[in-house]
Amino acid sequence: MDFAEIRGRLATCWQGFLACFKKPGDTTDLGGRPAPSPGTNKLAQPSEPRPLPKPLPVEVRDYYVALYDYSARTGEDLSFNAGDTLEALNKSTDEWWFAKALTGISASKTGYIPANYVAPVESINAEPWYFPNTKRLDAEKMLLAEGNQQGAFLIRNCESQKGELSLSVLDDGKVKHYKLKKRENGHYFVSKTRTFQTLKELVNHYTVEADGLCSRLGEPCKKMEAPQTYGLSYNTADQWEIDRSSVQLLKKLGAGQFGEVFEGLWNHTTAVAVKTLKPGTMDPEDFLREAQIMKKLRHPKLIQLYAVCTLEEPIYIITELMNNGSLLEYLQKDKGSTLRIHDQIEMAAQVASGMAFLELQNYIHRDLAARNVLVGENNVCKVADFGLARVFMKENDNVYEAKEGTKFPVKWTAPEAIHDNKFTIKSDVWSFGILLYEIMTFGQMPYPGMTNYQVVQKLPMGYRMSCPPSCPKVLYETMMDCWKENEQERPTFETLQWKLEDYFDMDVTSYDDATRYH
Ligand code: AMP
Repeated sequence: MDFAEIRGRLATCWQGFLACFKKPGDTTDLGGRPAPSPGTNKLAQPSEPRPLPKPLPVEVRDYYVALYDYSARTGEDLSFNAGDTLEALNKSTDEWWFAKALTGISASKTGYIPANYVAPVESINAEPWYFPNTKRLDAEKMLLAEGNQQGAFLIRNCESQKGELSLSVLDDGKVKHYKLKKRENGHYFVSKTRTFQTLKELVNHYTVEADGLCSRLGEPCKKMEAPQTYGLSYNTADQWEIDRSSVQLLKKLGAGQFGEVFEGLWNHTTAVAVKTLKPGTMDPEDFLREAQIMKKLRHPKLIQLYAVCTLEEPIYIITELMNNGSLLEYLQKDKGSTLRIHDQIEMAAQVASGMAFLELQNYIHRDLAARNVLVGENNVCKVADFGLARVFMKENDNVYEAKEGTKFPVKWTAPEAIHDNKFTIKSDVWSFGILLYEIMTFGQMPYPGMTNYQVVQKLPMGYRMSCPPSCPKVLYETMMDCWKENEQERPTFETLQWKLEDYFDMDVTSYDDATRYH
């Protein structure tokens, strides 16, 4: 064997090794260059060997820290725990990376990992106290949640001033917020008397002594649920028509007019919700067309569509599972025993946030109501069933007929949608006003004592529901804004979101020193 042949064989082995890290159908080499076509494959000709690609030098290797625990769901992905170190080997898709675990339960194994579960080693994102995209209200909720002790803290982006940071600290059952300022030289400070080159140094200092803060910093705030992965796995992110036999239906969660909903288990590993559609409720092609769009709509306040089974009836729609069921049932069960006005407004703000995302994507929900919002742990709310109404309604083409039947949600629907079939994001805003009413009344039927027909008759004459008992006036005004006759005068979801989120900012109890606190 001559030298050229040895090099040729080595090159073949190396390529075989690299191929382990590639997605099927990926025709690029490790450097992202297109692979030669079969007819021009130089590797098949040992007389002209390719130069051997060198392993990446240590300094450019891509090391990450896991931010959350993750349990493998298929034979292709890696289990890991928060704090484990991983090396990314192939990041050709944004959502799932091929990686090697360097520490922890999967040490030295390779497999796919959800990219949103890790952060670069030594980066600020890897710090357990850094919660960048956390709103002030969410910071308060997280710090006040069980498991956090005096001094628990987090650092987040400041909502009111882009590029600025805030420090939120739990003190005596309340959350205080400090603005972190930056000098021209980039050093951080809370109080001008002491500056720090890095945030880590700042945190270390205030961990040792309070030095003017309300409390010495304790443990970083406990992280709430891990974020949703993009799709169920590396494979289903693209191929989302999945084998029906990979889904076990475990427990019936409820029934809607178009089918039943089950708690299910995908691939014997992953809890999901499975909506089974009554045969004949919709044309699978229509549904698939809509579902292609729905699948791309990913936002923390929207229920993620994971996968579908459409090859046979009943069609399965597989989504994320929400432990506390629909917002309507949740409100009706609670009746105000544990939920306070703060929680009610916060839940409304979450729905507005999900809807503001749909608004930005020019997507219309068409059936926004408390029954179509789902609740998880800690009052987390997510909007569900967006766009489905359109596919269903095709069956009931005659809107008028549907309206007179019991199925059309007349009391949630804007007048122009009822009369002219004009569904827009502004008719969704009308429905949001009704949803606000449902939230404030703990799930009471809107327009109590009135039939659908009476509602349709009275709305054009200017009739609107009156303010529910114990509903703050400003909230009622928001509802009334949503029910403006002229749809252009109704607020945007973006406005509704910030109005609701800012509702408690007027509460000054957490601002005890204007020069320091934010
Ligand atoms: P639907 O057919 O969408 O009206 O759903 C009927 C009921 O099933 C709802 O009222 C919820 O209680 C339950 N449900 C629907 N989707 C989910 C989900 N993703 N997670 C948990 N429960 C759900």
